[in-house]
Amino acid sequence: MLDFQNFYDWDYMKVHPRYSYHLEDWGSAYSQSGKAGDWPECVDYTVKNIGDWEKLNVLKLREGVLGQILKAVFEIIKGLGNKVPFIMTIFSPLMIANHLCGFIQGTHDLERYMREAPDKLDKGMEIITETFVLFAEELKKIGVDGLFFATKETSDDFTSAEEYQKVAGKYDRRILETVEDLPFTMLHLCGDKIHFESMTKYPITMVHWDSSTGNNPSYAEGRRILGDHLAIGGGPNRHFMAAAEPEVLKKKIKKVMLETEGKHFLLGPACSVLIAETAEEKVWLLRNAPEQYMEY
Ligand SMILES: [Zn+2]
Repeated sequence: MLDFQNFYDWDYMKVHPRYSYHLEDWGSAYSQSGKAGDWPECVDYTVKNIGDWEKLNVLKLREGVLGQILKAVFEIIKGLGNKVPFIMTIFSPLMIANHLCGFIQGTHDLERYMREAPDKLDKGMEIITETFVLFAEELKKIGVDGLFFATKETSDDFTSAEEYQKVAGKYDRRILETVEDLPFTMLHLCGDKIHFESMTKYPITMVHWDSSTGNNPSYAEGRRILGDHLAIGGGPNRHFMAAAEPEVLKKKIKKVMLETEGKHFLLGPACSVLIAETAEEKVWLLRNAPEQYMEY
C-alpha cells in the first residue's frame, strides 16, 4: 500500500482493508479466489435468524482481524510519516448489519428484520456501533487524520431517507462524533439515489459520491446545495475508468474538474478503482488532472 502511495504521490492516503474485515470476527467467513479483481465469496454468515442479533458481542480490538488491521494501520502511518493526511475506512453500522445477515449471498434479510423485528435489530446495531466507536477511538490513538465513512444503504433503492435515519442515523452519528475533532472525515455515499440532503447534515468534513449513476446530484448541483459548508469529492466511475479510452477518460476528468472549478473539490474515483483492470496510464491521468486543468 505504501508503494502504491509513494509511486503516484497522492495528496492523501486512504486504506480500504479486505472486503470482510468488519465481519469475520463475528463469524462470517469468506473465500478468496486469489485472482486480482475477483470479489470474495461468502461461505458463511453470522445472523441467520432473528435471535442471532442478540448473540453478538462487542469485539475485542487486540484480537482477531480487527487487531491485525489496527497493527497494519499503525505500520502504514509509521511508514507514511507526516507526508500526507491519512484516513481509514469504517462502514456504517447498517451496512455492517446488512453484510452480517448475508447480503452478499443475495438473501436481503435486513429489510425483513427492519420491518418484523426492529427491536432485535436495534440490539445488534448497538453492539456493532459500540465495537466501531472503540475501533475509531483506537485509530485516533494510532494517529489517523479522520475516517472514510461509507454506506451503501442510504439509497432509495434500499429504503427511504426517513426510514434510514430512524434505523441508522443515531448510530452513524455516534461513530462520526467520536472523530469530530479530527480534521478530515470523508462520507462516502455509495450507489444510486443517495440521500444527499439528510446525510450531509452529519458531522463530517466532506462528502464523496458518484454523480454518474443516473439519479444522484451532479457535482455542480452538490456544490450549489452545500455552498461552502462542506468539501465535496468524486470523479469517474470505476467501470468507466477501466473501459474508457484514455482520451475519453481525459475529457470526462476535465469536465468534472471544470464543473466544480476545482474549489473545495477532491478529485478521485467515484467509488473505487478496479486496479487490476485499469491501465496505469489512466490512473496517471487522474493523478495529474488538478495540475493540468486548474490554475491556482
Ligand atoms: Zn462506493
